Amino acid sequence: MKEMPNVLWLEEIKKEDIVSVGGKGASLGEMTSIGLPVPKAFVVTAQAFRRFLVETGIEEALFRRLERLDVEDNGALESVSRDVQDLVLSVEIPDHIRQEITDAYARMGADGTVVAVRSSATAEDLPEASFAGQQETYLNILGDVDLLDAVQRCWASLYGARAIYYRAKQGFDDRSVNIAVVVQELIRSEKSGVMFTSHPVTGEPLTIVEGSWGLGEAIVSGSVSPDNYVFDLRSERVVDRLIAEKEIMIIPEGEHGTKIVDLTGEQRTAPVLSDAEVARLAMLGKIAEDHYSNPQDIEWAIVGSDVFILQSRPITTIRRPEIPRAGAESAGKGRGTFGVMLLEGQGASPGVASGRVVIVRDVKDTSAVKDGDILVTKMTNPDMVPAMRRVSAIVTDEGGMTCHAAIVSRELGTPAVVGTKKATKILKDGQIITVDGEKGTIYEGVVEAPAAAPAAPTAAAAPAQVITGTLVKVNVSLPEAAQRAAATGADGVGLLRIEHLILGLAKTPGWYIDHGEEEEFIGELYGGIKTVLDAFPGKPVWVRTLDAPTDEFRNMEGGQDEPIEHNPMLGWRGIRRDLRSPDQFRMQVEAFKRLWAAGYDNLGVMFPMVNHPREFVQARAMMKGWGVDVENVTLGIMVEIPSSAILIEDFIKAGIRFASFGTNDLIQYTLAIDRNNENVADMYEPEHPAVLRLIDYAIKACREHGIECSICGQAGSDPKMAAWLVGHGITSVSANIDAIPRIREAVARKEQQILLDAARRNA
Ligand code: PEP
Ligand code: MG
Repeated sequence: MKEMPNVLWLEEIKKEDIVSVGGKGASLGEMTSIGLPVPKAFVVTAQAFRRFLVETGIEEALFRRLERLDVEDNGALESVSRDVQDLVLSVEIPDHIRQEITDAYARMGADGTVVAVRSSATAEDLPEASFAGQQETYLNILGDVDLLDAVQRCWASLYGARAIYYRAKQGFDDRSVNIAVVVQELIRSEKSGVMFTSHPVTGEPLTIVEGSWGLGEAIVSGSVSPDNYVFDLRSERVVDRLIAEKEIMIIPEGEHGTKIVDLTGEQRTAPVLSDAEVARLAMLGKIAEDHYSNPQDIEWAIVGSDVFILQSRPITTIRRPEIPRAGAESAGKGRGTFGVMLLEGQGASPGVASGRVVIVRDVKDTSAVKDGDILVTKMTNPDMVPAMRRVSAIVTDEGGMTCHAAIVSRELGTPAVVGTKKATKILKDGQIITVDGEKGTIYEGVVEAPAAAPAAPTAAAAPAQVITGTLVKVNVSLPEAAQRAAATGADGVGLLRIEHLILGLAKTPGWYIDHGEEEEFIGELYGGIKTVLDAFPGKPVWVRTLDAPTDEFRNMEGGQDEPIEHNPMLGWRGIRRDLRSPDQFRMQVEAFKRLWAAGYDNLGVMFPMVNHPREFVQARAMMKGWGVDVENVTLGIMVEIPSSAILIEDFIKAGIRFASFGTNDLIQYTLAIDRNNENVADMYEPEHPAVLRLIDYAIKACREHGIECSICGQAGSDPKMAAWLVGHGITSVSANIDAIPRIREAVARKEQQILLDAARRNA
């Protein structure tokens, strides 16, 4: 290691210094060097840490303890980790290092500057090894004493149990792993947020800026819906803005910590950013994107007229890294670029992630699931959703493309592989794996993607959004996915599954009724649906009434009262349950009524699992009885049982306004193939001639009568199927968030082809 000072300012950092300042330090240095306004910072280098170990005389004792450790022995791992951390904290930082740190700190500002102190780990041979998030960060630090203490704690955190385990598994020698510490002025932002320098899904030159009042944690933690601005880099204008109702903001409190403040009055609905501020942010984003030759995901903050860029990293959704297939040779030093394939299943949600396996056999085990882990389970269920939000990937034994795990993972944008049959048996707790949710493969260790080529071609050459005659809508199950869904530019929501919202409440609808808590239930439903409606102003949102099979309610409070059914898929679900449980139906209708009364006339209601027109007639009559003006609201049905396709004319006569193919169920009920059963998953055939004939028949009837006809099952996310449907006259296609760009393209291509064929015929 060459001679290197104990402290380096961002302005002094060069690319080669990454082994001294870690990935975080180097990235801040690089951003500073290209002129981005990064808050003032210096880095306590890895060499300072090494000098600390040597000069205090603890180095040998520390590494010897680690060398003797068997990391598979959990008790020993925890105890050695504690001992080693205590050792690091028990000695004084040598005077000259203390002096250099406090001198640098004094140069930051006269009366003491409040700083954030962040770890930035490095390894000599692999400076950017995936150590992110394993070491500590201390916010809101003021004064020499607290600063030195925070630096020493960051050093100690290099020996946290999880970090030691991870390094051992990846074959890193602890002696070659170092830690740098970034000391950075803490920005007390008046407004803050994130931006994508290009459209995160389509790659178009549209900068998407999200902003809210106060500190950025409010957006990052999802506790506030931010304003959303779209800036077109071609015309250099703000072309779209959605001003959200911002209920809270997070502000710094005292010398340490933060607090949440309720917003009242104008600030709640006032735009966070002026057009000039959006333009300024977009231009800074452009500088970063040009420099890195890749679209960036950037954190920003504004205080008065000062704009700050806090972090910039590549957007990964536009261009997914390729991972080699099974059998690829291991390269380099036994870790890194290639890996051994352990398992295969169905790629249910695209993306690639690496992390530590946590096997969840029971919902109680989810408390062991930490941020960034990989959740491995037989099949997810709704009470696992909070844990599913934290993980970097999901793997299941059971299920197909339309199971709970698949639907929720796609909504969360989390890579998932389902139907592996044996993940819970083959994978081990604590094992590090990489999941490729596109290909459906799982690799041992951290499998790295090949280095990114300069400029993603899709991003650079992306055309303006394609306009299609057939509406391209999006499916939503979790309100938190509404903004992502809206960012696709979809023409509305073709299916909002409210059961995911209800199943997340931890209590069954029956519980709310039995405990006289109907208002609470209605309020939850109202709030969740409103979030989605707000994201799609002026565009149709079809909200489906409750459709959860009884087994999905079982783990919830009140679930003990659910009937035990041999075959819940054919059981008491969908409209048939609501018709016989008027209280449950009435609570949902009450939420819809209040939304209509609040002016959301883009809300349409869709009934699931109808098998006879009389069910539609009865449901509508009940709504009328509860005061709904049924002639003037949009009511329609899912066509997901063969009988409803066969009887479509009778449904139209009964007054439906629209019909939407639920192919997930239509396929299973036409072919007698359980959609969640991995043993017959290969026989689940969306393009089976019987399924296509039913669909074709129903589309023709809808067209004849001018009824909107759509699809919201998973088959609508398959470009080939979407093209077939357009060719057969469907009016709209509703697909998953991740599938919208490719569906839009397939629809447009098919439409062009139809026009061309017609023109040639007439020529
Ligand atoms: C379907 O059956 O295709 C559908 C969209 O509904 P769900 O997947 O919720 O049963
Ligand atoms: Mg269905």
